[in-house]
Amino acid sequence: MVKRISGRKADELREMTAKVGVIPNADGSAIFSFGETIAIAAVYGPRQLHPQHMQDPSSGILRVNYDLLSFSVSDRKRPGPSRRSREISKVTEMALKPVVDISEFPNTVVDVQIYIIQADAGTRTAGINAASMALAHAGIPMKGLISSFAIGKIDKDLIVDVDKYEEDYKEGEGATDFPIAKISGTENYTLLQLDGKMQPELVKKSLDMADKACEEIYEIQKSALKEIINGDGEK
Ligand code: UDP
Repeated sequence: MVKRISGRKADELREMTAKVGVIPNADGSAIFSFGETIAIAAVYGPRQLHPQHMQDPSSGILRVNYDLLSFSVSDRKRPGPSRRSREISKVTEMALKPVVDISEFPNTVVDVQIYIIQADAGTRTAGINAASMALAHAGIPMKGLISSFAIGKIDKDLIVDVDKYEEDYKEGEGATDFPIAKISGTENYTLLQLDGKMQPELVKKSLDMADKACEEIYEIQKSALKEIINGDGEK
């Protein structure tokens, strides 16, 4: 059995917290954490898209912006967009798009802003979880929630929800980071982004492990959303 520095079992996620309605001025917002990794997401819209030539008369447009805040990492991160943040914004957009139905809002944009307050690996997946809740909180028509986490590997053993120490583990075959996003209650994946090496049978096993992990994440997301519905109704 694989031994993790944190003492977690191979299929054990870090402790999760989730809260909806954390930014009063946004149309929807949420915060989600995996251990030391904390993501906050805010949704604005649907609102008219400018410049006009970017509008789609047949549907609204989903636009995601992800970034790490300067103080979120141990070596201060230079503020402003980077190649990495552009890539993560794009894959997050692709991970969320299949469940978002904004066809009834032509010429508009739904802006999703994701900021990482504290980073210890798995920031794109924590961001996707927060954004999915924030979209639901904003009342955007959705076919389901997206639940996301990353699988890693220590030698030949798969481990769920890698932290930074585990993500940097480079013995044997080198570091492996396999972020996965899934539509709740379905077998449909919206993100499979393998960085590193993995044998085909381990990819299959990763997807099996994702079933349980995504189910646990979904439960946390659902209870956070229910809390706001059952609360004072405030958005
Ligand atoms: N990281 C960092 N500085 C950076 C970018 C990343 O310290 O400029 C750290 C941070 O802890 C992040 C981790 O490296 O969570 C892994 O980054 P990666 O690009 O693999 O994405 P993530 O796992 O966060 O989705």
